[in-house]
Amino acid sequence: MKIVLLGAPGAGKGTQAQKLVADYHVAHISTGDLLRAAVKAQSALGIKAKEYMDAGQLVPDDLVIGLVKERLAQDDAQIGFILDGFPRNTAQATVLDAELAQMGIELDGALLVDVASDVIVKRLSSRRTCRSCGYTAGPEATVCPRCEGEMYQRDDDKPETIAKRLDTYDKQTAPLIEYYGGKGILIKVDGDRPVDDVYVDVKKELGL
Ligand code: AMP
Repeated sequence: MKIVLLGAPGAGKGTQAQKLVADYHVAHISTGDLLRAAVKAQSALGIKAKEYMDAGQLVPDDLVIGLVKERLAQDDAQIGFILDGFPRNTAQATVLDAELAQMGIELDGALLVDVASDVIVKRLSSRRTCRSCGYTAGPEATVCPRCEGEMYQRDDDKPETIAKRLDTYDKQTAPLIEYYGGKGILIKVDGDRPVDDVYVDVKKELGL
């Protein structure tokens, strides 16, 4: 399985990716998680990335592309991978195509988890994320049900940043739907349903 996940922030890409990883043992490559780890570690990249993330903007392509190339080269990604949150614009998609071609790999599909923007705003503002493993849940969760880590509200899930992230998505990331549609590998599932129902469709559409 070698796929790209598309969809607005909060559409449920990470949740579906986690389910696929648990069942099919492929690598989950989430650029948001990689960047948050860099911010936490206060690496040079993390310090640069933080200002963009806090502003709801995309981190510059060269920083993110380096992270993804490194991650794609690791052993676990050779079996298969789910790219979650990458590519985020057509420049990144073009670099990814070139990188995969060089590795002799073809994408099986680009899976769009489709959710209307009013639903997204509600979801993001009530979302809590595990500081340790990235698991997401509703506002009632204070302890992670998966690893018992602390659940917190991401700075960029606060109302003032949500609007900016959605605007960034509409302008820069949504064009990828057409990009992968044009390549004939776009798969679409309705993400505005219970997680397990969405997952049934995801597996069906991926032929799993
Ligand atoms: P996410 O967890 O995917 O919602 O990402 C959180 C933030 O990390 C985004 O709002 C961006 O600032 C940054 N980010 C994640 N992935 C990328 C990417 N592929 N390109 C640029 N910035 C990214």
